[in-house]
Amino acid sequence: MCIFCKIVKGEIPANKVLEDEEFIAFHDINPIAPVHILIIPKEHVENFQSVSPELMAKMTPFIQKVAAELCLDKTGYRLVTNNGKDGGQEVPHLHFHLLGGAKLKWTHLTHDDTHKSL
Ligand code: 5GP
Ligand code: ZN
Repeated sequence: MCIFCKIVKGEIPANKVLEDEEFIAFHDINPIAPVHILIIPKEHVENFQSVSPELMAKMTPFIQKVAAELCLDKTGYRLVTNNGKDGGQEVPHLHFHLLGGAKLKWTHLTHDDTHKSL
C-alpha cells in the first residue's frame, strides 16, 4: 500500500487541514514554502495523467476550499502536481502541492532545461 493510502487509512499520522468523504488536505512533512499543503483523493489514483474527469471535477472545488480556508485565495498561491519520472513525482498517489504564504520564486525550472534533448 502506498504511503498516502496509509494516511487515508490512519495508519500514518498527518496534520490535516480539511477532509471530506473523498479528499484530504494535510501539511507536507518537508515544507518548501511557509504554507505547503498536500491535497489527495482518498481513492488511490497514480497521478494526474490517470485521474478521471469526474474525480477532478470534484477535486477542484475541494482545492479551492482549502485555499480559501487558509486565506490563500486573497494572497495567491501556486498549485503543482508532479507527474511521473521527469516531473519528479516521488509518491505514486495523485497529490497537488498547494504552496503560499510568501511571494514564490520560479526557481525549479531554468532556461537550461529548455535546451536539454528529449
Ligand atoms: P512528490 O515529489 O511526489 O510530488 O511529492 C511528495 C511529497 O510528499 C513531498 O513534498 C514530501 O515531503 C511529502 N511526503 C512524503 N512522505 C510524507 C509523509 O509521510 N507525510 C507527509 N505529510 N508528507 C510526506
Ligand atoms: Zn495510494
